[in-house]
Amino acid sequence: MRVKVWGCRGSLPASGPENNTYGGNTSCIQVTQGDTCIILDGGSGILRLGKFLSPEIKEIHVLLTHLHMDHTMGLGFFIPLYNPNIKVHLYGPSTSNEPLVNRLRRYFSPPLFPVRLSELPSHPIIHELNKSEFSIGEVTIQSEFICHPGPTLGYRIMSGKSVFAYLPDHELQMGASNFPNYPEWTSGYEIAKSADLLFHDAAYTSKEYMTKIGWGHSSVRDAIAFGKMCGVKKLALFHHEPTRSDEQLEYMLKESTQHLKLDFEVELCAEGTVYEFE
Ligand SMILES: [Zn+2]
Ligand SMILES: [Zn+2]
Repeated sequence: MRVKVWGCRGSLPASGPENNTYGGNTSCIQVTQGDTCIILDGGSGILRLGKFLSPEIKEIHVLLTHLHMDHTMGLGFFIPLYNPNIKVHLYGPSTSNEPLVNRLRRYFSPPLFPVRLSELPSHPIIHELNKSEFSIGEVTIQSEFICHPGPTLGYRIMSGKSVFAYLPDHELQMGASNFPNYPEWTSGYEIAKSADLLFHDAAYTSKEYMTKIGWGHSSVRDAIAFGKMCGVKKLALFHHEPTRSDEQLEYMLKESTQHLKLDFEVELCAEGTVYEFE
C-alpha cells in the first residue's frame, strides 16, 4: 500500500513561499494498492492528483470524510470527472434528513459552480456510508462517525498487515467524557488503534484550543495523547492552520514534543510525502 499526500492544509488553501515545505493545498490523500486507486477527500490538492494520475487507471474511489468546503472544493476540478471512460465512485457520510446526492448537488450547482452534478461526463456513482466495513480491490475500509460538526467519518484503510488511519477533522476533547482516559469511549479510537500510520487533526496549540472549543479541531497535545492511547507507530500531524508558516509549524511541533518521551514517531504531514507499506 502506498499513501501519497496531495494536501494537508486545513480550512483554506494557503500557498506561498513561507509554506513551501508543508504545502498550501487542502485535504487530499491518494492510497494505491496494485490497480486500486482510492482518494481520501476532495480538497484543493485533488487538482494536481488528477493531473498526474496514471492514464491506465479506469476506476477511482473518492471517499469524503465530510462535506466542509476544504474537503470538497477540488471536486469540480478533478479531471477524471470530465472523462466518460473513467468510472468514479463518490462516497460520503449519510445523514437522517437529506441524501448525500442532494448535499453534493449544492456544490455542483450555481451560484457556487457552473457544472451540475448530473452534467459531469463520468456520471459518478454515489455511495452513502455509515459505520461500515467494505472492500475495494485488496483494500479493506472501515468507516465510523467521529466528533466534528455535521456528519463526519473517519477511515481505517487496511491492506495486508498494514493499517493507515485518516482522521483529518476531529475534536478529541468533545468526543470523550474524560480524554485521554477510556479509549473505548473516545471518538475515533476504533479507527486508529494500532495503526502503522495515523493522520490526525492538530490544528491548534493548547492555548488556541481554549478559545475554539466546539469548532471541531484538536490541539497538537491532544493529537499526540490520542496517538499514544491508540498505540500507533507513526503520527503525522494534519490540517495545518492556513495562517501558520513552515517555521511556525516546526516551532509548534518542537514546543509540543521536546519534554515528552514517546515510543512512536511524530511528524508534520507535508504535501508530496509518500509512505510505503508492505
Ligand atoms: Zn477541514
Ligand atoms: Zn471540517
